[in-house]
Amino acid sequence: MLYNTLGKTGLKVSRLGFGTMRLPTKGSNDKIMENEASEMLTYGIENGINLIDTAYPYHSSTLEGSGNSEIFLGEFLKENSYRDDVLISTKSPSWAIEKNEDFEYYLDKQLKKLQTDFIDIYLLHSLTVPDWLKVNELGVLDFLDDCLSSGVVKHVGFSSHIEVDYLIEILDEYPKWEVVLTQMNYLDEYYQSGTMGLDYLKEVNVGSMIMEPLRGGRLVQNIPQQVNDLWNQADVKRTPVEWALQYLWNRDDVDCVLSGMTSLEQVKENVKLASTEDTINEHDSELIREVARTYRTFLGNNCTRCGYCMPCPQGVDIINCLTEYNIAHMLNDPKASAMQYFTLIDDDSRADSCIQCMECIPFCTQMLDIPEELVKVHEYFGSEFDHF
Ligand code: SF4
Ligand code: SF4
Repeated sequence: MLYNTLGKTGLKVSRLGFGTMRLPTKGSNDKIMENEASEMLTYGIENGINLIDTAYPYHSSTLEGSGNSEIFLGEFLKENSYRDDVLISTKSPSWAIEKNEDFEYYLDKQLKKLQTDFIDIYLLHSLTVPDWLKVNELGVLDFLDDCLSSGVVKHVGFSSHIEVDYLIEILDEYPKWEVVLTQMNYLDEYYQSGTMGLDYLKEVNVGSMIMEPLRGGRLVQNIPQQVNDLWNQADVKRTPVEWALQYLWNRDDVDCVLSGMTSLEQVKENVKLASTEDTINEHDSELIREVARTYRTFLGNNCTRCGYCMPCPQGVDIINCLTEYNIAHMLNDPKASAMQYFTLIDDDSRADSCIQCMECIPFCTQMLDIPEELVKVHEYFGSEFDHF
């Protein structure tokens, strides 16, 4: 296993982190197949993985309720005496916080679920701008100060899908942030905080953990023929998983890539890759860019996320509505994009809030009929996540 330093935490972390949001299940998402999952974690730890990431709602029967991932992990670490061998990263459900006491309430519950006295890395989970304003107002920074002073939490940070300006704003507000979990893969360099966000994390020496390295598996499943043809042109042949992971590990602004693994086979493959030095040269980089360009030809519309059409007077989040629609087409995975559409975009900002006033049309740099595109987005995603 190869290791990196996680920013200013100084922790040496395996460059592959074990994400426990996609453990094997039977019947429903909350029923973890414990024997199989234990075997996977054991293999990972015995072969050098020292960072395991979980969260309050992972493996819950609902989108946001208390899940079984933390419970399973706590049991597993205790039974196998692995607690001292690994760093636990888990997350406070920022969307569920309604009053100051809730910070403590959830932390206590998580410590019990995990059967531990302390958490190595505690992240505010999936921080949106409204949730950040809310938790800040409710005193989250004092709460984190107290956690750090008492030692119940060793390092603090947040996970987020926000744009780079907001990422920087939040980072600048609290000098004790040490870790950020952010989305990155070769398709997402300009999506959410993207490469500019990683640049800034490196500049301020905040550790970077990466989520969605395989775009929820879409970069390695049902690969379009045009993409396979491009990979076949490479001098050094790599599997799609190798391309995706080595692209990230070759970046000097990436410290730890989390992979939500589902089978022992995947763990073995990823551990092997994480233990192998592999250089992506300039020719490989150009091929990766060409693959990304090819995926983009499957987009639903030509929105470039330039932002000139914003803000919409009705509060429609035009950019992200069009983006999730595009990604759904590009990766042919409506369910994954619908999950993003319904969780990352507020109720009042989705496509059905457009009143067709046409005010945005003259501003579109790509000459899109934005209200018409939003009608398509609404027809595609509908009003409820449930029907996916
Ligand atoms: S047409 Fe729709 S998206 Fe455009 S400004 Fe009007 S309400 Fe907003
Ligand atoms: S102006 Fe047009 S291209 Fe730019 S973000 Fe708005 S819809 Fe997309």
